[in-house]
Amino acid sequence: MTAERRPLSKWLYPEKKKLGEDIFPAGRPPFDPFPSVTNLLNAALCPVAAVHDFLRGNEGALLGQYDSRNLGELFHGFIAHLKRLIVDGKLDLSASNPGALEGAIQSIFLDYSSKRGFGPSAAGQVWERSIQPWVNRRLLDGSLGLLRKGDHLFFELWIVNPRMELTLDGGVRHYPVYGRADEIDIERQRIIERTVKPPISGGPPLLKDLQVWLLWKALTTLPKKDLPGSWRSVPFERFELMVETPEVDFVIDKASPDFETQLHAAYSWIHDICSFEQPGVMREVYDNAQCTPQAPHRECSHPFTGCFPRTFPFPSSRPEMKRIFAPWYRLLLWERMWQGDLWWYQTSMLDSQALVEKGLISRGRIVSSTPEKTEIRLEHGVPQIAGGFDRFEVVVFGTMACGLRTDAKLLEVTDNSLVMKFGGEGVSRAGSAVLFQPSSDSSSVFQRQPEFLTSGSQRGLFKVQKMGLIKPERAASVSQVQLLEAIFGPKRVAGRKR
Ligand code: SF4
Repeated sequence: MTAERRPLSKWLYPEKKKLGEDIFPAGRPPFDPFPSVTNLLNAALCPVAAVHDFLRGNEGALLGQYDSRNLGELFHGFIAHLKRLIVDGKLDLSASNPGALEGAIQSIFLDYSSKRGFGPSAAGQVWERSIQPWVNRRLLDGSLGLLRKGDHLFFELWIVNPRMELTLDGGVRHYPVYGRADEIDIERQRIIERTVKPPISGGPPLLKDLQVWLLWKALTTLPKKDLPGSWRSVPFERFELMVETPEVDFVIDKASPDFETQLHAAYSWIHDICSFEQPGVMREVYDNAQCTPQAPHRECSHPFTGCFPRTFPFPSSRPEMKRIFAPWYRLLLWERMWQGDLWWYQTSMLDSQALVEKGLISRGRIVSSTPEKTEIRLEHGVPQIAGGFDRFEVVVFGTMACGLRTDAKLLEVTDNSLVMKFGGEGVSRAGSAVLFQPSSDSSSVFQRQPEFLTSGSQRGLFKVQKMGLIKPERAASVSQVQLLEAIFGPKRVAGRKR
């Protein structure tokens, strides 16, 4: 259930001609944010979750508890790993005795999970709760056995669309969005969103259907020129959308009008919260909260941390802190938008040549690659971005708008090459030696803006605002509380006697 909101008449984009110029960030950004899929799902869940996301730096409304987040990553990561082994030709299931397959996959899982820091007991629990049921289903329905060496499977594929199209009143609205699809299976024409969250009332887990639909919509409304060359004739419009859990799969009805309604409302909430144009917007946000302390939301992570924390008598200056902090959250949001959202607009709306000229990306070819290091020969020499931070991202397949990216650590700079160590599963994550040919595809190398640092400041501010103690004697001995009382409250700081 989403809080309704009248759709916007239009999304506020930055002026395209200014994107290529040097922009001096000052004051309120003259554009709306460039939301991620996560931002949109938060806003679709509850407008208060969008406030936590954009103003308090906490985008985790739908992450659930820490354990289940780790579990979800391991579930998805291992299935991707297993399928990559098969399509890369490193694992042949047909060669194994069917009775021994489950044991063989379990031993691959235990090796995979131990390399990611899971001890035997934790890994055993994850195996029993999620991987084993999934493996048993896939061995029973034969779908794992259908995978072949060279199949075109892509995991964690980035989709960045500055002008996704949603229909409204017989017309079209454009909105920006970016996110990652868990799996795109070109052979079986399917997009899969995978989760360990439980189904709800016989349907898919909360908002997972909207998530896979949103990614599909972002992909299918990209201009063909922004797709990888070999994908321009792939009929993504016809692809099946699936939400996959350990126990059950859900095929999503692409024609459901609810998805567009939910997204128009989500964009509208995000615009209103971030623009502060309407004085009463915060009251409207809280009027539309999707739960109460008496009936907290079952899935949202915020009830007792973000939304309904206990109120403590100390520091007594909390109301004053809340009043003084309010504009800081907004200023930090603007900083996030200047740093992060503007970068997303630039890297998705400027052409490749303009991005190179602005120093936002470098283009080059991978000339050699081993698990330890990959050499990228650059088209225009080593750019300025090679100085400073040594963390980069590299598009190893596809385009900035639609492709596989890997994080990379800079090891060495030579005359016209960068030598890097790729993170994750490296080049092999392309999953297909046919579509991805390191010697011929051109790669983009770039650094993302550190907008997460500003989100961290928002979170820190909110943490200070929420801290509290009950007992006066304890409050009198905790220096942070005393300091806050001195800065924001009635406490007098003793001066030195003359
Ligand atoms: S706890 Fe309730 S009010 Fe708060 S963000 Fe979640 S759903 Fe909304």
